[in-house]
Amino acid sequence: MKKVIIIGGGASGLTAAIKASKDYDVTIIEKNNKLGKKILITGNGKCNYWNENQDVNNMYHSSGDYKKIINQLNLTKAHAFLDSIGIIPFIKNGYYYPNSNQAISVVNALVDETINNNVKVINEEVIKVEKKDNKFIINNKYASDYLIVATGGKAAPKTGSDGFGYEIAKSFNHNIIKPLPALVGLEVEENIKELSGIRLIGEVNLLINNELVQKELGEVQFNDYGFSGIPVLQISSKAIKALDDNKNVFISINLLPNIADDILGLRSFLKVQDKHLNNKSISQILDQLFNYKLSNYLLKISKIDSNAKIEKLSNNELDLLCHNILNFNFKIIKDHGFENAQTTSGGVDLKEINLDTLESLKVKGLYFCGEVLDVDGACGGYNLSFAWTSGLIAGEIRGDTNASN
Ligand SMILES: Cc1cc2nc3c(=O)[nH]c(=O)nc-3n(C[C@H](O)[C@H](O)[C@H](O)COP(=O)(O)OP(=O)(O)OC[C@H]3O[C@@H](n4cnc5c(N)ncnc54)[C@H](O)[C@@H]3O)c2cc1C
Repeated sequence: MKKVIIIGGGASGLTAAIKASKDYDVTIIEKNNKLGKKILITGNGKCNYWNENQDVNNMYHSSGDYKKIINQLNLTKAHAFLDSIGIIPFIKNGYYYPNSNQAISVVNALVDETINNNVKVINEEVIKVEKKDNKFIINNKYASDYLIVATGGKAAPKTGSDGFGYEIAKSFNHNIIKPLPALVGLEVEENIKELSGIRLIGEVNLLINNELVQKELGEVQFNDYGFSGIPVLQISSKAIKALDDNKNVFISINLLPNIADDILGLRSFLKVQDKHLNNKSISQILDQLFNYKLSNYLLKISKIDSNAKIEKLSNNELDLLCHNILNFNFKIIKDHGFENAQTTSGGVDLKEINLDTLESLKVKGLYFCGEVLDVDGACGGYNLSFAWTSGLIAGEIRGDTNASN
């Protein structure tokens, strides 16, 4: 039986191993002492492993026709695979979680299937990969006919993914699209420490070189360094790539998306409140809408005395306050680091991969799957969906490129 070695026992590596074990002698080499370590921390420990709405627009990439990988047939196979290994879903608004509400159920299903299929596991860090006489040689001691690189990207390196997969790819002359953190908080130039800890439902707008490029609604979290929360993570991939291209990147938040989206509407809302509340001070009115620290901050940046009454404010003063509430604007200067990121944008260039099989177009028998490839997804189960889908394709070992190596 021909031998397959898979480097990395995360979501994509385990899936590839289960698939390949039907026809090959499979070994996973994983540097952690347990398989699936990162899966345990996904979805806040609940593991959002799939999404009903598999719209390809929720996936990002820099090169290649990634839609070939995430096509309907491959997605159907991945969905059936998750069913077949016994994961019972709990579905909320199209988001899939294991019914136990615990990520460990997903890890157990994968690991049990791996053991049942006689996949061998070696707990060792891969530091060297070569190809000699048509065999892949790992750490000078393990040999295989096929190699699947499922090492993940650079996000959350404490779970094992420290970017070594890119070094393997480079050693085989593959191009790497610059890896950047994605699904991560964004650091801002302004000092907003006094607002740290506040959470609110806001509409987050991403402006690149003054152009609106993405809009997301959801719970925004204010931190010492800047902003996080789902809508901020959703804009992070595009924001960070733009920063890397030296573009001007701003986050602008509508702090009252359920009340108004223009100055006129907000001004009349505040005036109605003013009448209704019998001429209370502006800070008393704002304190009904926001955390008091945010009310104070808004009045400070609008240069309005907190004891002022609305009817005493000039039109300009009131308009500036409304503007600041609807366009709470900050300059983004930095991402909050790979340590805090959920995924990596960039990676192995898809142009050099056969997208039907995920085999390298440069080296026969070399495959890539999961986050190490130049594909990243939005929050909502898309990154794990990609890990299962690409793991299944790579694990088929279907390729037979004309590469000379
Ligand atoms: C906090 C957090 C929350 C997340 N939540 C979700 C979510 O709810 N839904 C979702 O879809 N996605 C989520 N993700 C993203 C998702 O977990 C990843 O995209 C996915 O796990 C990638 O799978 P992978 O197999 O490509 O890589 P990984 O899961 O990173 O696995 C790679 C494996 O390779 C091993 N490895 C690396 N280098 C070597 C080496 N040199 N030698 C041996 N072994 C090596 C690593 O130890 C690791 O086990 C989250 C990520 C994080 C960090």
